[in-house]
Amino acid sequence: MRSGARVLGIESTAHTFSASVVSEKEGVLTNSRAVYMPAEGSGIHPAEAAEHHLSVAVRVVREALERKHQRGSGIDEIDAFAYAMGPGLGPCLRVGAVTARTLALSTGKPMVAVNHAVGHIELGCLLTGAKTPLVLLISGGHTMVVAHSDGVWRVLGETLDLTLGQLLDQLGRYVGFASPCGRRIEEAASKSNRYLKLPYTVKGNDVSFSGVLTAAKKLVEGGASFEDVCYSVQETAFAITTEVTERALAFTGSRELLVVGGVAANRRLAKMLELMAKRHKASVKVVPPQFSGDCGAQIAWTGLLAFKSGDVLPSIADSVVRQSWRLDTVPTPWRA
Ligand code: AMP
Ligand code: MG
Repeated sequence: MRSGARVLGIESTAHTFSASVVSEKEGVLTNSRAVYMPAEGSGIHPAEAAEHHLSVAVRVVREALERKHQRGSGIDEIDAFAYAMGPGLGPCLRVGAVTARTLALSTGKPMVAVNHAVGHIELGCLLTGAKTPLVLLISGGHTMVVAHSDGVWRVLGETLDLTLGQLLDQLGRYVGFASPCGRRIEEAASKSNRYLKLPYTVKGNDVSFSGVLTAAKKLVEGGASFEDVCYSVQETAFAITTEVTERALAFTGSRELLVVGGVAANRRLAKMLELMAKRHKASVKVVPPQFSGDCGAQIAWTGLLAFKSGDVLPSIADSVVRQSWRLDTVPTPWRA
């Protein structure tokens, strides 16, 4: 039996091509994904990543729709097709947009354009039960502290240069790992408790990590143990992040801190945030690890919220992509 609206969402902003079906009443039904892995020591090559996405798109969408998952839906049961309009890498975004466009054209159903960052937040709210939290969005593409006010998610603090994900990935690549490297850095860091001094930069409520990266590379070059460097980078960068989050928590008086984005999978950071939040009598809600990185579910769920608010694209021709698209310019009518 049908249980409310169903939306299929496609994520393709960077390394991940993912498709998911969500239902209004039951939440995430399926979430299928394929991740492009660059060569060891290199970062995402946009044209290669787009080539990867093209090669997996049909399989991933089919998997998201398949009934063999029990909870899957036939394409006829989908009410709208959502895609990540941005921000992200142009060639990658286009694969997702064209895939969603093809599905919409062949079924006559509407399209919904979703901002990737809003997607992380709304899926985090669904999965953790957070209502109107202070949000720490930490991923490959973002490092921001945001809160909802007057119809948009407003930025209370952000990075001035590298994101937390970029800091960890660039350090990992420097020693020859393939991106994404966050989990391997966390593993290496857990084997040390020797702190090597690194620059600590907070400007107002914004943060900067480029000095941490440069100094960490110099330590590696100088023969410091990689585990000690990873430990010190995590302690420094996470303390910086926790400091600005604490200031925003005190400023907003929020009792809920939601942590979303790929770096939310890091246990050391969660521990620091929990210690800090306790002082403010706030609870920390961390998105479950299988949904912390980029995934179709963030696009499908936010697409469903937009669809229910009537926020669909006027025509298929409007399904363009936006490589830059700041979170605080995105209307969120479902939260009005
Ligand atoms: P996203 O852009 O949301 O897909 O997040 C990807 C980012 O999360 C990459 O920069 C990864 O290195 C990072 N990441 C994944 N797992 C961890 C972890 N356990 N600790 C720190 N960073 C992580
Ligand atoms: Mg992301």
